[in-house]
Parts: sequence; structure tokens; C-alpha cells
Amino acid sequence: MKTKIICTSCPRGCAITIEHQGKTIKNITGYTCKRGLAYAKDEFTLPKRVLTSTVKVNQGELAMLPVRTAGPIPKAKILECVKALCNMSVDAPVKIGSVICPNICGTNVDLIASRDINKK
Ligand code: SF4
Repeated sequence: MKTKIICTSCPRGCAITIEHQGKTIKNITGYTCKRGLAYAKDEFTLPKRVLTSTVKVNQGELAMLPVRTAGPIPKAKILECVKALCNMSVDAPVKIGSVICPNICGTNVDLIASRDINKK
């Protein structure tokens, strides 16, 4: 079988083809650097994304705080994390980079604030 992906590691956007039998990779072509090869392997075996969203703020100048994961998390965990965010709130003030939820949903990645929020 062949799976085609676009490498998003840089703006060049190389088209990469992964030949595989089931989950076993047989050959990878189309990448033009080591970064692309690593991206293709990761994307095929365990695709990950950085999650960006918002959580409620109590007593803040804004009602919602932009947040993101400090690094990529498995795509399969994103829905679970989004659901967890719906039940989360944080008290103002909040500093950019502060940890809002450590190890969100067991991903070993922290959820952090993307901006400062002052108290109202
Ligand atoms: S394979 Fe390398 S050059 Fe091509 S898009 Fe990926 S990082 Fe960029």
C-alpha cells in the first residue's frame, strides 16, 4: 500500500510517499532532508499536533484565555483534551507561559497560557 503525505516541517511542502504493509513501513520517498524523513515516520506511526484553544477565566479582563499545548500531542488524544478544556477554568491574573494543566490527559505535555490576562 502507498500513503501520500505533505511534509509541513518547512514551507517547501515536499510530497512524501510511504510504502507500507499494514503498519510496517517498507520504503519512504519524496523527502529532501532528514527532517522530512523523521516527519514522515512520525506522521505514519504516531501523528501529533499542537492543540490551541481557550479556557474560561474567572475575574479576568477577558472572559477566555488562549491556551496551547507546550508541544505536540498525539492526534488521537485531541478530542479528549478538548473535552477536558470545556470543564476547565482559571483565575486571573494569568502570565503567558504559565501551566494551566500539567500533563493534560496523560500526554506528558503541559497546557500553557498563550498570553497575559489581568484581573478586571
Ligand atoms: S522534506 Fe525537508 S525540505 Fe521537504 S518540506 Fe520537509 S523539511 Fe522541508
